[in-house]
Amino acid sequence: MSYALTPPETVSVPVRGTDQCFPVRNIYCVGRNYWAHRAEMGVTDRDPPFYFTKTRDAIVYCPAGETVDLPYPPMTANYHHEIELVVAIGTEGANIAEENAENHVFGYAIGLDMTRRDLQSLAKEKGRPWDNGKSFAAAGPMGAIVPASECGHIASGRIWLSVNGETRQDGQMDEMIFNVQETIADLSRFHTLLPGDLIFTGTPAGVGAVSPGDVITGGADGVGELSVRVTST
Ligand code: MN
Repeated sequence: MSYALTPPETVSVPVRGTDQCFPVRNIYCVGRNYWAHRAEMGVTDRDPPFYFTKTRDAIVYCPAGETVDLPYPPMTANYHHEIELVVAIGTEGANIAEENAENHVFGYAIGLDMTRRDLQSLAKEKGRPWDNGKSFAAAGPMGAIVPASECGHIASGRIWLSVNGETRQDGQMDEMIFNVQETIADLSRFHTLLPGDLIFTGTPAGVGAVSPGDVITGGADGVGELSVRVTST
């Protein structure tokens, strides 16, 4: 049996310090996982974090030390940066216990949950899905995956982002509402986590808009940095 169309290429991200790539499967994102960001989005409830997804065409690999072009997406006038720790799942699991969660982690990376905030806000107002605001081509630039065997399990440390050299986001990863273990445990109640899955773990306060020509640089302790330049389309 042959394919009716050419199958899409496997989306993958290099594994730092190796000649291997990590093949990407599903991309989950945690919403409102830092109190200060939740407040800046105007939310005062105490509800637990929740999830949305991006498609694989969100992934743009950003090699360390390079500034990668990131096209300004269509249908927005309010394109926002969100710097996030990304967890890469290596081992399948459902209903994972918190104390066992780290055994399912392959590694960690730095990533951007790029957001068409105007479309997301409209969706919220209308009670519609967030997909147009969150899931689009190049909406998830990320650096290489650092194996947990190299960086250990990331539970704390600084996470930051600057635009044109000016610091916009400067948080601490131990300020997550659901830490990595709790996120894996909770998410795996809803979805069987599979090898290749990525989890964007939410952003600290300080999100904001970028324009063509802006250079975004961000990083987190233990997983390195990334840099992108927003280009006009
Ligand atoms: Mn986010």
